Amino acid sequence: MKSKLTDLLKTSVVLGDGGYLIELERRGYVDSGSRREKVGTGRGSGQFTPEVAIENPDALRELHREFLRAGSQALQALTFFGTREKLNRAGYGAQTESINATAVKLAKEIAGDRALVAGSVSRTQLVEREGMGALGTTRDHIAEQIRLLKDAGVDFLILETFFHLAEMKVALECAAASGLPAVATMSFRPLITQCTDGHTPAECARVMADLGAVAVGANCEQDPARMLPLLREMRAATSVPLAAQPAAFHTTEQCHSFTCLPQFPDELETIQISRREFEKFGQAARAEGIGYVGGCCGCNAAYIRALADGLAASK
Ligand SMILES: [Zn+2]
Repeated sequence: MKSKLTDLLKTSVVLGDGGYLIELERRGYVDSGSRREKVGTGRGSGQFTPEVAIENPDALRELHREFLRAGSQALQALTFFGTREKLNRAGYGAQTESINATAVKLAKEIAGDRALVAGSVSRTQLVEREGMGALGTTRDHIAEQIRLLKDAGVDFLILETFFHLAEMKVALECAAASGLPAVATMSFRPLITQCTDGHTPAECARVMADLGAVAVGANCEQDPARMLPLLREMRAATSVPLAAQPAAFHTTEQCHSFTCLPQFPDELETIQISRREFEKFGQAARAEGIGYVGGCCGCNAAYIRALADGLAASK
């Protein structure tokens, strides 16, 4: 019998997984969109969508297996950018149900009784494209995806890579209505001082905790060392466990966001950080009040193994 996420968070640091899309792009199964348009604006059309779940399920199974072998206690179903809104723009709108259901089925198949399965829900990109007036439509799309994920049997949700706190609030309200526990992480760009609609990390943490998130934090965009100061601001603002899934790419003093750097997406190899940075982050996680730790873009299983080593060394 698997423990529930909320029980695990009470007793230990939970090791997650990730990241899926960049790794599967490198392996040739995901389209970055860079041959068609400028990537990194936050408004991308069909970029980095998760149709690999139905088109090349074995590739996705294999990556789940690698993360599980590395020690992940929770596998994320590859449902990132899986709202009908985003899939429509990639030409996969009609497959919204099958992509979400299949992604969860594959993650559950590999997890068995050894790991929890999370449904990943990300921003729709509607707010970036159309402004805050689109929040109502955003709610419909996020609610639909969460319903699909719940029907497919996920254990909890990871709401991740939201740029606007306003859209995260919508997602947390949809999660609460579903009854599923939710981990909530914002992505800060181009600097870690505030999110796109102008809220500090501390404000984001308070709002996400107030709306019922079981862990709050940040994912993507920064490497662990660059993310740490914003996590500390969040730590000081709330008592719920922190969640951190950093990227494995160097950023600069002027730009704390790898997706805003010219190396994204076709020269990421030149700004890759070593897995040792993740081992150090794992060592520090407990002392920093982080309850859920994993990786995001640029991490493969070696990085999750390094996190596991770091966590084990800090016991
Ligand atoms: Zn990422």
